[in-house]
Amino acid sequence: MKVRILGITVDIYSMAETVEKIRDAIEERRLLRVVTANPEMIYASEQDPALRQVINSADLVTPDGIGVVWAARRLGTKARERVTGIDLMQAIFPAAAAGKWRIYFLGGKPGVAELAGRKVSRDYPGINLWTRHGYFSIQEEPEILEEIRRFKPDVLFVGLGAPRQEFWLAEHPGLARVSIGVGGSFDALAGTVRRAPRQIQELHLEWLYRLLKEPWRWRRQTVLPRFMVKVLCQKLTSFKG
Ligand code: UDP
Repeated sequence: MKVRILGITVDIYSMAETVEKIRDAIEERRLLRVVTANPEMIYASEQDPALRQVINSADLVTPDGIGVVWAARRLGTKARERVTGIDLMQAIFPAAAAGKWRIYFLGGKPGVAELAGRKVSRDYPGINLWTRHGYFSIQEEPEILEEIRRFKPDVLFVGLGAPRQEFWLAEHPGLARVSIGVGGSFDALAGTVRRAPRQIQELHLEWLYRLLKEPWRWRRQTVLPRFMVKVLCQKLTSFKG
């Protein structure tokens, strides 16, 4: 099922269904570009046609965050759970280990993706993993592209920050069967940035935890109420229509 939220078409699947789509793409040798769309990106895309095009041209757009799940429900779907980058990565690893997939991590500060990779390899020895940090110059880019192509990943996770990673993946199609922009997820996997305790995640208050831990992000978080107001306006105008 799909729902249009402020001009962005979001696919409403559970986490398990999303992993299933990814597994199908790998087994059927299809390309699948995934965008995990959070309220900030959806809100920004309203004023940015290039960003809207990059998101809407992806093969799968997941509801990244409780704000997007809330919007999808308001707009008439039965969305139940969020599919964030970090949660999706963690849901993919068991399937990747079972299928002996090749996985490439690109992004994060030097050492971070490597540390995340070591932890994932320890927990899932079946995965064939390669990592590279995300601080490279434009001159170094061809070499990185070549390295990824040589590695032939089944899944390429790119954590360069949104929306840069979304543009980057759209500009370089076919680097991997499945490509997914995952923001700061390598930091969370490596443990260099801590996620909220599970109870806080379950209360859907991870945003508050992050605000208290990283107060410089407050400006980003003021997007959520504005996003919600816009969604309610969309709902009202669709009734009139
Ligand atoms: N990053 C990177 N290269 C850069 C700039 C940023 O690899 O040139 C990484 C950074 O280390 C961090 C991620 O991109 O791991 C951005 O994290 P953030 O949580 O800000 O992601 P967002 O929520 O903006 O997608």
